[in-house]
Amino acid sequence: MNNAYEIAAATYLLIGIFLGTIGPAGKDIAKEVDRARGSPMTNAFMEREAPSEVKLFFFRITITLGFVLLWPFFIYGIMKEHNRSVALDKKLEDERAEGIWFHYMGGHGTITCKDCDHSEEVTSFIHGINSSSSGFQCQGCGKLSSIRAGGPGRANEYEESLECECGGTLKRDKVIFCPSCRSKNLSYQMQYIT
Ligand SMILES: [Zn+2]
Ligand SMILES: [Zn+2]
Repeated sequence: MNNAYEIAAATYLLIGIFLGTIGPAGKDIAKEVDRARGSPMTNAFMEREAPSEVKLFFFRITITLGFVLLWPFFIYGIMKEHNRSVALDKKLEDERAEGIWFHYMGGHGTITCKDCDHSEEVTSFIHGINSSSSGFQCQGCGKLSSIRAGGPGRANEYEESLECECGGTLKRDKVIFCPSCRSKNLSYQMQYIT
């Protein structure tokens, strides 16, 4: 009978050690330690010295031990967070598989259609001192344009002017399609970024 308790306790601890080191909680613990370490900038901002590596080591041991002993209390939240980030990665991967998007393109460059060889310069997002330009595509005729918005805090002012000459709507949150043949099989070559 004693044996059964020992096996149960050992299993419990082993699961805790697994989750708290190589399992999902291990990553969270490493993040906590990094946060405690701070960066030169955050430490300067808080006017403190970076904690010594010895202190950080004990900090890490303490939270790992705490987790190993009490893991059933934490695991639900950690798994939920873990699943959420896996779902997010999956979503990003799916989006990238669909084609190119303004929000994944940087700066200014050229898109080239792999189906009809059409190529065109496009601005995805660049900013100057007092203004920024964002790329849009008309969902009707496919025309690519970049719209300037004024200074900090005024970035959304162009939202009202998002209509193309053809009557179509300009969108930024759609997969970019070839203005010539409407294929989504495009490549993007960045030229510069500001
Ligand atoms: Zn249009
Ligand atoms: Zn094309």
